[in-house]
Amino acid sequence: MKHIPRKRFGQNFLVDVSIVNAIVSAVAPQVGETVVEIGPGLGALTEPLLKHLPCLHVVEIDRDLIARLKRLHAPERLVVHEGDALAFDFGTLGAGLRIVGNLPYNISSPLLFHLAIYATQVKDMHFMLQKEVVDRMVATAGDSEFGRLSVMLQYRFDIQALFDVPPESFDPPPKVQSAVVRLIPRPPAELTARDETLFARLVTMAFSQRRKMLRNTLKGEVSEEEFAAAGITPSWRAEDVPVAAYVALANLKAK
Ligand code: SAM
Repeated sequence: MKHIPRKRFGQNFLVDVSIVNAIVSAVAPQVGETVVEIGPGLGALTEPLLKHLPCLHVVEIDRDLIARLKRLHAPERLVVHEGDALAFDFGTLGAGLRIVGNLPYNISSPLLFHLAIYATQVKDMHFMLQKEVVDRMVATAGDSEFGRLSVMLQYRFDIQALFDVPPESFDPPPKVQSAVVRLIPRPPAELTARDETLFARLVTMAFSQRRKMLRNTLKGEVSEEEFAAAGITPSWRAEDVPVAAYVALANLKAK
């Protein structure tokens, strides 16, 4: 029976074989690696990944698609984790994880924040996302796209936009342009925020009113002396501050 794409699950199925091949080449899966695909759907990436791997993990929420995947693949080849990727504990799959997926665009930001939790267990991640989200992920201080997502992800990962993908590559075509991105966790020695909760809170506060000067958004939280010590001019806006300066500021405040 033909599957009718469900909008609420962000179902835009990849149908362009050249894009599928480009993603699988970028991932270059090797026997012995633990690879997990988020949202396998009708298997556009799943099938070619299984050509390279004896076993693949997938996380899928749609019951009809889960039933279909289980019908088509033996459980020792395809390990299907049923449920919401936002609630899935990727930590249960061990270390050196490679995570891939043409992600459901409606939950892409929360999913990226969820995945960042597992950075120490991850080897790399390759995702298809809205191009606009990829632009925000790779934006640097001074760019108008530079925001909380850029800071929090760049703190944990080296991020590389690989290539763009037009709407016609999907069925049904999404309303937006897409792009494929690679994230590689930064070495632990480079993650120097002594209190990561405090770092995350400061970044959230700074970007809560991104048009305002930091001396106003962080009023009562950061003194003029602390701004100066972190190399930040208090009249800057949140989008002007490099990731390292946010880390420096958080470390000045950390006990
Ligand atoms: N990988 C397939 C492809 O490239 O054609 C499907 C990609 S489609 C954009 C997104 C997939 O993620 C769908 O299979 C959808 O059912 C699944 N999905 C949506 N929300 C999910 C969630 N919260 N957790 C796990 N899978 C989800």
